[in-house]
Amino acid sequence: MAWHSTGKTNEELIENMRKHELINSDRVAEAMKRVDRANYVVDKRDAYMDSPQSINYGATISAPHMHAHACENLLPFLKPGARVLDVGCGSGYTCAVFYHLVPGGKVVGIDHIPQLVDWSVGNLKRDGLGDAVAEGAIEMIAGDGRQGESGWPYDAIHVGAAAPTLPQPLIDQLACPGRMFIPVGSVSQRILQVDKDTMGNVTTTELFDVRYVPLTDKERQYAMT
Ligand code: SAH
Repeated sequence: MAWHSTGKTNEELIENMRKHELINSDRVAEAMKRVDRANYVVDKRDAYMDSPQSINYGATISAPHMHAHACENLLPFLKPGARVLDVGCGSGYTCAVFYHLVPGGKVVGIDHIPQLVDWSVGNLKRDGLGDAVAEGAIEMIAGDGRQGESGWPYDAIHVGAAAPTLPQPLIDQLACPGRMFIPVGSVSQRILQVDKDTMGNVTTTELFDVRYVPLTDKERQYAMT
């Protein structure tokens, strides 16, 4: 079903995901419509396909239905003024969608490949978000995302690469309350929803199986290309 959402335009892609109930909320649909996926892919002809695509350096832009799942899952924490950390932000696509979901808030994207960070900033500018980057409402950082990033606590943390185990620094950087959406596992991977309540208690819920690029060392990733 997920793969049947491909559209001829960005609008059609999002509408198809709505029809297939991959997107269930107006807020996510509107935010995803405001972000033209063509600005975040290497081969524009594939922009509106519901599939992952290579963005070089051993990285991929995830399939639109995975981005939709992540946004829907984190939605209760994506409120006006919220702070969001996007680990393994790659193309910058999810940073753009989160930005539209947290007016007045802040989105920090971190990726360990500096060339991808530079490219993602260009993508955001092409997508009309140059001012947001200039004002610091979206901040794109080159670094090891397994350590998180200063500027925490974060109301929502999205991890776009599969961690072998849950990284403790990211749990520590979640706000009370806060939620993290993270693929975990090496051979087989599963999305975990990590919730921290107002008292700081952490609970983990297993959602579904996935295939993501690993959250790893830069050298290992380069070696895979
Ligand atoms: N969510 C992004 C990219 C997904 S690919 C998108 O949809 O465009 C996973 C990304 O994680 C890659 O860009 C890769 O460079 C990055 N990554 C892998 N290990 C990392 C680490 N330790 N720290 C930061 N980024 C990492």
